[in-house]
Amino acid sequence: MKFCLLASGSRGNAVWVEEGGLALLVDCGLSAKEFKVRAALAGLDVGKLAAIMISHEHRDHISGVGPLARALGLTVIANAATHEAASQIIGLTVCEKIRTGDSMNLGPLKIRTIPISHDAVDPVSFLIESDAGALGLATDMGTPTGLMRQKFLGLRALILEFNHDYRLLMDGPYPWPLKQRVRSRIGHLANDAAAELAAELHHRDLRHLVLAHLSETNNRPDLAAKAAREALNEAIEPVVASQHAPTIVFEF
Ligand SMILES: [Zn+2]
Ligand SMILES: [Zn+2]
Repeated sequence: MKFCLLASGSRGNAVWVEEGGLALLVDCGLSAKEFKVRAALAGLDVGKLAAIMISHEHRDHISGVGPLARALGLTVIANAATHEAASQIIGLTVCEKIRTGDSMNLGPLKIRTIPISHDAVDPVSFLIESDAGALGLATDMGTPTGLMRQKFLGLRALILEFNHDYRLLMDGPYPWPLKQRVRSRIGHLANDAAAELAAELHHRDLRHLVLAHLSETNNRPDLAAKAAREALNEAIEPVVASQHAPTIVFEF
């Protein structure tokens, strides 16, 4: 399996997942034009894309979904509540609904959605499996759920939210209600909580750990990486995803 984060953060998210000539996009908060530029930069073949899955209806995850799906003839896959909540922004597309907690097959990929704790109608994380192993993808959550902890055991790759440094958030410029929202159980995951979860999920066959959805205001890549390294006793070198450029194409 190959994967690449084309953008990650509150100004746009898109994760490419590819196996056996077929590709899936998880979220698209980039314009269709910017998506194509970044896919080309990363050396990805847009012709392989079959579908876009949506994690939740926040704009940084769906603003580009409609135009891209219409331009490339892609199916949009999400649960019914998210479809409904996202429909005004996305517009008309070919839709396929998946029940949260169920799994579906897309070519060689088996995709399961797992509910997460965030302030959206029915937000999910993803467990994406193939014969090569499993990728776990979880951003935009205030706190990890027990089910996610259980399903994410034995991963080959983990993309995990490292949203903010608690001190930077509390001392930073956000108004108090927004600070409270970010750090709440339905907000975003802090570096220390994310590092603790990464350490819990780490095992000797975990090949890639990607730190994602960093706040540009309340975090710094070096702080997120330091938190991960310390919690994991440097057992794996984390890669920090960026808002502005694609990551490398990871493979396992
Ligand atoms: Zn987000
Ligand atoms: Zn969100």
